[in-house]
Amino acid sequence: MLQKSLFKKPNLKLEGEPAIAAVPMIDCPGCRHRLELPELEKEYYVCPRCGYSHKLTARRRIGMILDAESFRELDAGMESRDPLQFPAYAEKLEQAKAVSGEKEAVVTGLGSIQGVPCAFFAMEPGFMMGSMGAAVGEKLTRLFERALKDRLPVIGFTVSGGARVQEGILSLMQMAKVSGAVRRHSDAGLLYTAVLCDATTGGVAASFAMQADIILAEPGALIGFAGPRVIEQTTRQKLPAGFQRAEFQLEKGFVGTLCKRSEQRSLLGMLLKMHGGKER
Ligand SMILES: [Zn+2]
Repeated sequence: MLQKSLFKKPNLKLEGEPAIAAVPMIDCPGCRHRLELPELEKEYYVCPRCGYSHKLTARRRIGMILDAESFRELDAGMESRDPLQFPAYAEKLEQAKAVSGEKEAVVTGLGSIQGVPCAFFAMEPGFMMGSMGAAVGEKLTRLFERALKDRLPVIGFTVSGGARVQEGILSLMQMAKVSGAVRRHSDAGLLYTAVLCDATTGGVAASFAMQADIILAEPGALIGFAGPRVIEQTTRQKLPAGFQRAEFQLEKGFVGTLCKRSEQRSLLGMLLKMHGGKER
């Protein structure tokens, strides 16, 4: 019989040697420096060396913006089918679920910011680049309808490559469907504030991202319909530096103001209160 101790790791630590805690590290795509994850976390995942905004999951945004323990998720089980039997889509969906830990590219629910109740959504970049299929459109439509019923403002964080090609016209029609719900919410005199994050493009930029009453953007975020490469190839013209970045879109009037991650919670809380939101 084999002895269990054969499989035990030998204890190589010398007596009196300090334990070296392994700090998780991450490579910054902006400046290529190795950053300590706990340090980055303290900086709201914005690189302290170069200012690069690291991608945030929908759940991290919820944790960063909403009051602790206030979030109640809606339609958590809703997920996309493969209505067109699009080649490799079923596998892509499974992969996206495994990578992101989410069932779809948006998380919706109710919560509060600085005590003021709101309906909230955050798109998930890890799920097929936050693309919008029928499930994303339906979750958002239901959120705006719920907000209308409960007379709540909506706060949303957009990150998306646009409509999901694998669902064809069914994903494109979500633009109109969500827009209708945004309009009904707006007609009732309710506030909708969107924070456009890197990247907000395609059918999402061309619908509910740009339909907010107040449009904020994260510094450096790419915001536009077609991407700069596509435009450059089509027009055969050199585009100006910083084209479609949040700073450029602010100058052109597409966004109201830029807002750093460290200031988003306080600004959103203030906006809610300014528009009649009462602390619970
Ligand atoms: Zn950096």
